[in-house]
Amino acid sequence: MPVCLDDYRKVAPPGAIDLLCRLSERVKGRSLLHINSTRVGGGVAEMLNRLVPMLNELGVNTTWEVIQGSDEFFAVTKAFHNALQGLEQEISERMYQAYLECNRENAKRLLFDADLIAVHDPQPAALVDYSPRVGRWVWRCHLDISHPARRVWRFLRNYVVKYDAAIFSLPIFAQKLPIPQFLIYPSIDPLSDKNRELSRREVNRILNNLGIPQDKPILLQVSRFDYFKDPVGVIQAYRIAKKHNDCRLILAGGSAADDPESKGVVEKVRDVADQDPDVHILELPPDSNLEINALQRAATIVLQKSTKEGFGLTVSEAMWKGKPVIGGDAGGITVQILYYLTGYTVSSVEGAAFRIRYLLNNPDIARKMGADAKEHVRRNFLITRHLADYLTLMAAMTEGWQATEILPFS
Ligand code: UDP
Repeated sequence: MPVCLDDYRKVAPPGAIDLLCRLSERVKGRSLLHINSTRVGGGVAEMLNRLVPMLNELGVNTTWEVIQGSDEFFAVTKAFHNALQGLEQEISERMYQAYLECNRENAKRLLFDADLIAVHDPQPAALVDYSPRVGRWVWRCHLDISHPARRVWRFLRNYVVKYDAAIFSLPIFAQKLPIPQFLIYPSIDPLSDKNRELSRREVNRILNNLGIPQDKPILLQVSRFDYFKDPVGVIQAYRIAKKHNDCRLILAGGSAADDPESKGVVEKVRDVADQDPDVHILELPPDSNLEINALQRAATIVLQKSTKEGFGLTVSEAMWKGKPVIGGDAGGITVQILYYLTGYTVSSVEGAAFRIRYLLNNPDIARKMGADAKEHVRRNFLITRHLADYLTLMAAMTEGWQATEILPFS
């Protein structure tokens, strides 16, 4: 059943919906265009799928366009992605040119007819250079860009400075830029199929369909198959823990349409798992929201052992389901996991294994941590807060905007 704004009164903090209604009066009838590189897979598509209809319900005329690109283009932008998250990459002049050419072609095809244009991540970032300057432009970066490989960042920065403002997910991702920079945390939608309540019966049915027995504690990581998510480290941690505590491990993932590397990562993961019958590697189709919901609810502990993470929606998704999360001490995971309160951040395989065992051996602590984790998400990482940030951004950037000062949000 489709949900409406009022339904969120049951789950959002008190006053959140009234605040949204008041804020929306300021920007009703204005238009917002989002541009990114995929409609399926990954956190950005996950959020836009929910934010776009709700912004429309709030009276902002919101549309969403996706750039088109060749395999070569997405190989280049994946190399950019890796470099911006700190991995040195070989990027040739030809690759830079392919990137610009694709942005130029997309600029011819798209209509940039909105009061505010939000361009997400590096893939479409150069559009700003090839488009008529109507409306305000904001670059929304979802990556962990705390230590970017310098050459790629220098290249991309040439385009970023042409925006009216930039948005990052964490203060440590802010860059030296001559434009205002905002902080906006990502969010999850508590009423979407991925996060809504499920009955025990529904969870059992879905796990049966997936072929996952619930005969022992379940460790779970849900992630695109990407080296930064460290699925191999998760298997190693599980192996250490399993010597003392019997458990199953589920690695559930898929690929994003703009991520050409996942196939190789899955092969590596299968190789390391070495046909262990208690390790389940699930390659899920992109619309597996209920399956992911059920897996997160069936899990005893959720892991997100990333080595770099722009935010990590999967952490909040699990916390919302009352699960303690063991996450890599990286990027956005550190604002979701408050050490020892809502989960544990770890910096090694051994650290992850230690915390897995600790939580398996202390179910009362795990339960309390999960309950506190849910409240932390309610207060900070629900879509209602995110919508308020977007409405404030709209008001700030489309009314008498003077790009002279830095206005931190959130
Ligand atoms: N996800 C999914 N299917 C998968 C793997 C991930 O639907 O096979 C979802 C996951 O539940 C989350 C999003 O994709 O909503 C991933 O967002 P996150 O911020 O954790 O990571 P990103 O992929 O953007 O790096």
